[in-house]
Amino acid sequence: MSDYPMIIDGKPVTSTEWITVENPASGAPYAQAPACTPDQLDAAMQSAARAQISWAADPAHRRHALQECAAVLSKNLEQIAALLTIEQGKPIAESRREIGAAAAWFTYYSALDQPVQVVQDDAAARIEVHHKPLGVIAAITPWNYPILLASWKLAPALRAGNSVVLKPSPFTPLTSLLIGRLFTEALPAGVLNVISGPNELGPLVTAHPTPRKISFTGSTRTGKQVAETAAATLKRVTLELGGNDAAIVLDDIDPGAIAEKLFWSAFINNGQTCIAIKRLFVPQSAYDKYVEALAAIADTAVLGAGTDPATQLGPLNNPAQRDRVTALVDEAVRSGARIATDSSAFDSSGYFHRPTILADVPDSARVVAEEQFGPALPILGYDSVDEAIARANSTEFGLAGSVWGSDTERAQKVADRLECGTAWVNTHAAPSPRAPFTGVKDSGLGVENGPWGLDSYTQLQTQYIART
Ligand code: NAD
Repeated sequence: MSDYPMIIDGKPVTSTEWITVENPASGAPYAQAPACTPDQLDAAMQSAARAQISWAADPAHRRHALQECAAVLSKNLEQIAALLTIEQGKPIAESRREIGAAAAWFTYYSALDQPVQVVQDDAAARIEVHHKPLGVIAAITPWNYPILLASWKLAPALRAGNSVVLKPSPFTPLTSLLIGRLFTEALPAGVLNVISGPNELGPLVTAHPTPRKISFTGSTRTGKQVAETAAATLKRVTLELGGNDAAIVLDDIDPGAIAEKLFWSAFINNGQTCIAIKRLFVPQSAYDKYVEALAAIADTAVLGAGTDPATQLGPLNNPAQRDRVTALVDEAVRSGARIATDSSAFDSSGYFHRPTILADVPDSARVVAEEQFGPALPILGYDSVDEAIARANSTEFGLAGSVWGSDTERAQKVADRLECGTAWVNTHAAPSPRAPFTGVKDSGLGVENGPWGLDSYTQLQTQYIART
């Protein structure tokens, strides 16, 4: 019997097949999660479809239930955060922040309404525009922020009157299964079903005839497969995909004053953050100062198991990701880059990689051209701001970016020229429930968060009342 059953129709459900979840800090198996069978997937979809009808009919109940979900997350924060650190690897303080932020998303959406809009009201007709829920939503999440990114989908989807089948990543299913169980005290049976299984479960979910929309967060490669499968049944899709965020530091700011903030904007969650700084552009005249300052922070950052409160950087989530980062660093060195930080092996059976600052990296190196999604940051020198902007935009990604400078008006003018969904000034990786989050180019399709995110879980209905 699994300690982490799936939740289907409000009840705990196990399986005869299992997936093993490891603790990345040790590499040891930690727990098993059920592998959802096709019949169980059908049961989850049918349950969601049944429950959605009465759920859609009562907006006041939904508002209250979302407040309850926020309360459930806050009440059980320590338990969920501890489990998140074990399966994901992040330091316990970051896990607590993630669960707290997820609760904030539920609170935000509980208070957001979609009023009927009147677009004409005259002697000829009254025309009203109503938002209707879509039906069943399939939500698919990655392993880097399993609960926060689930809340970006669940809160607006449920608020708008949809029901949801949530499928977390096989690397981090346990916390999603746990919140599925905890939320049974806040949500009617079937409104939220949580299923788990290997990656092969993903295409079964996206091809299933019941959901009217797939809300997906993950890699660009998988996102394109999701769009292809969803096209066959003309499901809507929201795709939040990869990023290769550039930060451009202008020449009017003191490196010492921002080095710490730049470092943690890149190494947040060990770089396994879609909106981490992944390429840092600094003026050539101050290049050495930035490399030295960031390398010093990297070399004094405390690495260890996330369960230790002193830890600042935990392991990477899985061995494939650790090996990818190692391969990208090796390739950069072969291309002429210099490692400016301690590159000795970290003695552990877990999936650790020391935070690595790379200097003198050509733009053609894979660690610059691709999304590294790990603790290796290339620092790139530029001679003119126009050149920095052109190089920052020279990528197939366009998730976010930032510009750093003392003159914030000048910095904002530069930020305005970045081709990305979010452009920050003097900060990075600071999403808000109120602000639209969207990727341009290969970083995604559609929008999450704010009223725009809520609208994306609805179908418009025009009600045209002719005056007789
Ligand atoms: P991934 O694409 O490997 O997996 C994401 C999810 O898709 C998992 O639940 C997985 O089981 C499922 N899946 C796998 N194959 C599938 C298929 N064929 N059909 C349907 N579902 C399938 O991504 P990952 O490695 O878990 O996450 C890392 C990636 O996610 C990075 O590229 C990162 O930038 C991106 N990401 C983006 C955002 C954003 O908001 N834009 C946020 C976090 C992570």
